[in-house]
Amino acid sequence: MSDRYTGQRRALIGTMQERGIRDLNVLRAFDEVRRHEFLPDAVRHRAYEDAPVPIGHGQTASQPSLQALYMQVLDLRRDDKVLEIGTGCGFQTAVLAKLVDRVYSVERIRELSIRSREKLDELRISNVALMVGDGTIGWSRYAPFDAILVAAAAPDVPQPLLDQLAPGGRMLIPVGGRDTQQLMLITREADGFSEREVTACTFVPLLGRFGWMDAPRA
Ligand code: SAH
Repeated sequence: MSDRYTGQRRALIGTMQERGIRDLNVLRAFDEVRRHEFLPDAVRHRAYEDAPVPIGHGQTASQPSLQALYMQVLDLRRDDKVLEIGTGCGFQTAVLAKLVDRVYSVERIRELSIRSREKLDELRISNVALMVGDGTIGWSRYAPFDAILVAAAAPDVPQPLLDQLAPGGRMLIPVGGRDTQQLMLITREADGFSEREVTACTFVPLLGRFGWMDAPRA
């Protein structure tokens, strides 16, 4: 269905392709979910820039091509059970819900989780479970997960998230300092974990028991 942003959305898909996104399922999912519907009114006109956008509470919706890279690198299958840490505005959650049957997403800021729930309900996206809490401890009730996407930057990989990865499961997590990080792909192998660096990146901090403990800098 087209809307006033359809042209801009198609242009963004083109930009994502130029930036290396080839997975057609991922591109289709980004075409189906309207990012502008998830953003606060004041920044809605920026929805189809390939850029992070402020969503309030000092947080940002991540850059679309980077979110798409996550999904492409994770090589998601329809029957994968996926855990997202950092629901934020719920846009990436909605895209994931188009790609896999079961999405679980944890957000520490209650207002963001509530808004995301309202939006997902409005769009009749029903295969997502949301929780307000500290995602650095994962969501043990639904573990193990085939894929874990961490949308905030950690000083180290939280041990509970490693523990909640299924055999063959993959996790993407930005690890490093407050200003820049390396996006790490961690895979649970038969005999332990393998890891590889995917790209340099900049995310808001992952705050919690196994993340950064102090308040974010102003
Ligand atoms: N995927 C989201 C990303 C939002 S930014 C989007 O595109 O909108 C990262 C989010 O992680 C923020 O909303 C922040 O509040 C949240 N976050 C930070 N630490 C967290 C933690 N320990 N548990 C859950 N969410 C956390």
